[in-house]
Amino acid sequence: MMASQTGSGPGSGGADAGPGSGTHLPDRPGWTCVECGADWPCPARRSGLLDEYGGTGVALGVYLGACLVRAMGDLDHLPVTELRQRFLGWLPRAGGHRPD
Ligand SMILES: [Zn+2]
Repeated sequence: MMASQTGSGPGSGGADAGPGSGTHLPDRPGWTCVECGADWPCPARRSGLLDEYGGTGVALGVYLGACLVRAMGDLDHLPVTELRQRFLGWLPRAGGHRPD
């Protein structure tokens, strides 16, 4: 599949990424990383998110939850449990889990 790209050299396109969002952005509707091609959030994006949000917090959970909802609409052929694990399952426990 040939993508129609303007220009004939690398770096001629220009960055569409928003400020502070890095380059590891999701390519919808497939939800793969535009940078490394891994399932989004890719490992690089995950560490970037933790950095941006200062670790696991409510804001990061809300953001990923919103992404998860969108992904569920785009990837409705995938099980919800799998998507949930993919978007939220990687988050380190922030000490909220009580050992029994
Ligand atoms: Zn990536």
